[in-house]
Amino acid sequence: MTVAVRIHGLWKRFGEQIAVAGIDLELPAGQFIGLVGPNGAGKTTTLSMVTGLLRPDQGTVEVVGHDVWRDPTEVKARIGVLPEGLRLFERLSGRELLAYTGRLRGLPGAEVDKRATQLLDVLDLAGAQHKLVVDYSTGMRKKIGLAAALLHNPEVLFLDEPFEGVDPISAQTIRGVLERYTASGATVVFSSHVMELVESLCDWVAVMAAGRIRAHGPLAEVRGAAPSLQQAFLELVGANGRTTGSDLDWLGGGAR
Ligand code: ATP
Repeated sequence: MTVAVRIHGLWKRFGEQIAVAGIDLELPAGQFIGLVGPNGAGKTTTLSMVTGLLRPDQGTVEVVGHDVWRDPTEVKARIGVLPEGLRLFERLSGRELLAYTGRLRGLPGAEVDKRATQLLDVLDLAGAQHKLVVDYSTGMRKKIGLAAALLHNPEVLFLDEPFEGVDPISAQTIRGVLERYTASGATVVFSSHVMELVESLCDWVAVMAAGRIRAHGPLAEVRGAAPSLQQAFLELVGANGRTTGSDLDWLGGGAR
């Protein structure tokens, strides 16, 4: 197995809160990889450390053979990132944002224009390309963020909750682009808590809870004998016994 991302002994603490509690993980290259876990599991913190956005307290991360914190320039040239709560240059149009990103990535102007036109087309943003990003909807922001992350044809693409706030048609479009991208040998790592989505998209998953990896491997292996990934997930993170709302006896029923 060729390894795209090698994580060793990764830790992050915010005050008393241990967000990531010692992760060891090897992510295979050329696969569609899902990082799943409940709210607060540590997915965003992990992805931020893996992509060079947040310095770990301990541990190392290698992406396509380069150490993220010792060799950040090498790594950043090879990855694309769509972070959570993506901040974009609001006063640029979608087209200008891509032109700017392309030049930052060192691509020649004509190549940037060609790729931007194709990406805007495929992601159904051609009609909005001259609109300012500040006026984009949530889904349009995700799509232009994705276009910016793909422009330099990275080897590994990291996406934090790429489908959140995205309508089904745009989700299908994003999916198509990503499937095509992985089919060419590239690696996609994305975080999500939508199990159906992960189950239908991913070849390989890592399940995270309370800062640790609870299971990882090919989807079928992690799902095991459970009827669905959702069920396997509930069993793994121990949510089966959690209250289903039966304690909320005041809720509903007409009594105010
Ligand atoms: P979600 O699915 O809700 O986005 P997540 O799995 O991405 O959750 P993280 O955002 O990584 O989880 O958070 C993990 C834990 O670390 C949480 O308890 C969170 O409150 C805490 N945390 C994250 N960032 C910070 C920060 N900057 N300061 C303090 N605590 C933080």
